Amino acid sequence: MLVVGLTGGIGAGKSTAAARFGELGAHVIDVDAIGREVLAPGGRAEQAVVDALGPEVLDEQGHIDRAKVAAEVFGRPDRLAALEAVSHPAINAELELRLQELADGGEAQVVVLDMAVLAESRLGQLDSGRGYTQVVVVEAPEAVRLPRLIQRGLTEDQARARMASQATDAQRRALADHVIANDGSPTELAAAVDRVWQQLVGP
Ligand code: ADP
Repeated sequence: MLVVGLTGGIGAGKSTAAARFGELGAHVIDVDAIGREVLAPGGRAEQAVVDALGPEVLDEQGHIDRAKVAAEVFGRPDRLAALEAVSHPAINAELELRLQELADGGEAQVVVLDMAVLAESRLGQLDSGRGYTQVVVVEAPEAVRLPRLIQRGLTEDQARARMASQATDAQRRALADHVIANDGSPTELAAAVDRVWQQLVGP
C-alpha cells in the first residue's frame, strides 16, 4: 500500500487534486478533517488542548471553539507550537489506526493523505513507518490563488495572512517527489493529476 502526502498552499488546488485522485481509485484521507475531529467533544486531543491553551478557547457549552483556538495561536509561534505538540501526535495516532485498518483490509493500493500542513511539521510521518513515503505538491502562483480564495469568501487581507502563515513554495517543493502546477484550467489540473497517478501506480 503506497501512502502519499498531498499538500499545497491554501488556494493552490490541493482539495481539487485530492478529489481527482479519489476518482482515479485512491483512498483519500482528509487529514485536516481529522484535525477537527481530535478537538471535538470526546476527541483524542480535546483535554490536552484545553490544558495547553487554557479555558479561554472553550465556548459556552465547554467545548473547544476552533475559531478561538485559531485566534489564540495566530501569529504566536509559541502558542502554535504548544497546540501542535498535542494535536499533531493525536492526529498521527488516528492516522496510524486508519492506515493499519486499510492495510489489513488489503483493498487500498494507494492512500492519499490530503493535508495542508506537511512541510511544517511531522504530521503524517508515523513511527510505525506507515506514514507517507511520497509527497505530491500542488502549486499555483499567489496571483492565481488570491482570487480563488476571495471567491471562497476570504478577504484579501485574510487570504494573504493565511498564505504567509504557511510554509513557502520553496519549502514544500524541497520535499516534493511530484509537483503539480495548477495555474491553468480545472481540466488541465485533472490531466496533471492523471499523469502523476500513472507515475505512482505504474503502467
Ligand atoms: P486548496 O485545497 O489547495 O486550498 P482548493 O482545491 O479548495 O484549494 O481550490 C481553491 C478554490 O479554487 C476552489 O474553489 C476550487 O474550486 C478552485 N480551483 C481549484 N483549481 C482551479 C483551477 N484550475 N481553475 C479554477 N478554479 C480552481
